Amino acid sequence: MKSRRKFIKSSLLGLTALTFPNMIKVHANQDYDVVIIGAGAAGLAATEELIKSGKKVICLEASNRIGGRALTDNQIFGEPYDLGALWLDNGNTNPFKLFGEKNSNFNLYKERSEEMYALYSGQKRISNDGEIWKVFDGIEAGIAKSRKDISPSEVVPYQDHRWFDTMHMIIGAWEMGKDFTNYSCKDFNYDYEIPESAPWHCKEGFGSLVVDMFKNIPVQLNTKVSKIDWSGSGVKVLTDKGEIKANKCILTVSTGVLASDQIKFTPNLPTEKQESFSKISMGHYNRLTFKFKKLFKKKAKDTYLYYRVDSQNAKSPEGLGITINPSESKLCMCDPGGDFGKELLKSGEQASLDFGMSELRKIFGNKIDKDLIKSHAVDWSSNPLFLGAWASAEPGAFEYRKILRSSVGDRIYFAGEATSKEWGTVAGAHNSGVLVANKVINI
Ligand SMILES: Cc1cc2nc3c(=O)[nH]c(=O)nc-3n(C[C@H](O)[C@H](O)[C@H](O)COP(=O)(O)OP(=O)(O)OC[C@H]3O[C@@H](n4cnc5c(N)ncnc54)[C@H](O)[C@@H]3O)c2cc1C
Repeated sequence: MKSRRKFIKSSLLGLTALTFPNMIKVHANQDYDVVIIGAGAAGLAATEELIKSGKKVICLEASNRIGGRALTDNQIFGEPYDLGALWLDNGNTNPFKLFGEKNSNFNLYKERSEEMYALYSGQKRISNDGEIWKVFDGIEAGIAKSRKDISPSEVVPYQDHRWFDTMHMIIGAWEMGKDFTNYSCKDFNYDYEIPESAPWHCKEGFGSLVVDMFKNIPVQLNTKVSKIDWSGSGVKVLTDKGEIKANKCILTVSTGVLASDQIKFTPNLPTEKQESFSKISMGHYNRLTFKFKKLFKKKAKDTYLYYRVDSQNAKSPEGLGITINPSESKLCMCDPGGDFGKELLKSGEQASLDFGMSELRKIFGNKIDKDLIKSHAVDWSSNPLFLGAWASAEPGAFEYRKILRSSVGDRIYFAGEATSKEWGTVAGAHNSGVLVANKVINI
């Protein structure tokens, strides 16, 4: 997700109807080579890789679907609607893009690089206010120049500028899911593979693409892991459906889930390892989506709407990152992030949607009310299976990335977006799953 800044600068397939041909049942006392925990992009890729190598594996997923934070719904608005991941980064190497373009069920296209912004100050459309980009570039350069493991709030310029709150919201909450006090400049700059190209879009939804790519991978759904006992030579994984014994396990749940203690370890994991779960902490990025009769009909697909946010230098600016007509859907996605986005969704779906509408009214006036057809809010922050959107290092915690990636006792392995060099992305999660599966295979 973070990579959106790179290109800015240079310029359910039936959620409820999933079927899995090879559904596994949990058999207590049955032995496996590897248990994979979580069926998001990382867990699915790891499972596939291990199956290919002939390992006996089981992939356990707490929810009733695969895909994790990549989720397309087709019912709510009667058309593909991504509740989570939307942009496909790194088109040249992204495994989902490479799969999708060879598959006639999916239409993929690269994002155009021009005229992709609509800029507003109040109700006034600004054709191009050089000041906005000056502030944007200045803040980015400030973070890039800082080689330190400190927060952007300590280094970024223009903190009194009238466009500061907007750019704080964009370079903070919208790109990182975090405000300027909550992430490390070093983490933002290093240890990250720079995308090769502008992002790609999948008209049928990124979530649908993930599900389709892994539709033949066996997954044990509705099976929540609560404990991992690694006191013996292998692991005993306790679930709400029984206990599973295996030689090794791969955990792909978010760092939010790991830090929440929902999965207990016997014996305890080393202290540093435990600390890494909360030091590489989850950012918050939620979604309020609106469908209008007429509004935005004439806007080009995948337009980003930037408007002046005035939060008087608040620690967490109160604004939204807005995407209009993603893949010509006529939807308007308003994404609140950072601490503000987390708290907003806690106030409930209706209150969150009311805030979204009030921000849109500031730009388009009250006339939009009668034009509204339907709206929907999704709260990833409160969902116990995720507890946030994607992870990044807290200021001063950059070194914990390595610790998070390391295995414990040669039998507990960690994959998932937060462990990847392309963290915060679906492709990164996938690649981490393949990498860790190969480590396990080669031991
Ligand atoms: C709103 C939003 C927008 C985003 N936008 C983009 C984007 O545009 N582009 C992009 O590339 N990325 C984006 N991301 C990030 C991307 O979605 C994630 O990086 C990626 O999907 C994470 O995959 P994963 O396999 O690491 O984890 P997950 O997808 O979280 O998979 C982990 C799985 O573990 C399961 N689980 C949790 N607890 C347990 C348990 N106790 N037992 C068993 N199973 C459990 C969960 O249900 C989940 O299915 C976005 C994320 C969000 C939330």
